[in-house]
Amino acid sequence: MNKIEHIGIAVKNIKEATETYEALLNKKPYKEEEVESEGVKTVFFETGESKIELLGATSDQSPIAKYLDKKGEGIHHIAFAVDDINFEIQRLEAKGFQLINQKAKPGADGKIIAFLHPKSNHGVLVELCQDA
Ligand code: ZN
Repeated sequence: MNKIEHIGIAVKNIKEATETYEALLNKKPYKEEEVESEGVKTVFFETGESKIELLGATSDQSPIAKYLDKKGEGIHHIAFAVDDINFEIQRLEAKGFQLINQKAKPGADGKIIAFLHPKSNHGVLVELCQDA
């Protein structure tokens, strides 16, 4: 696994959160993207080699809406860049990590992704992330 590709932050109001992070980081986001299949709107900021991904829900059925109900706003996941996501999925499964996605799928920002269950990672939702 390579660098931390991004940190995902779940927010209630994506517009307000975008303004907050614009002020915090003193820059504009480089991308906004809706991932319809996930019920998520994302806003990305560059922070050196890594990024901040704001995640807002676009429907009540969205995993982000459920997360916000349960846990409130805050750090949602850490994404690691990998060279070969299918290799990493097999490697981690063989080591007993619990996968949320058995197969890599398209994510935001031109990536293919897979999530590992927080139970496997001491409470941290981990995303594997490969350039598509
Ligand atoms: Zn992410």
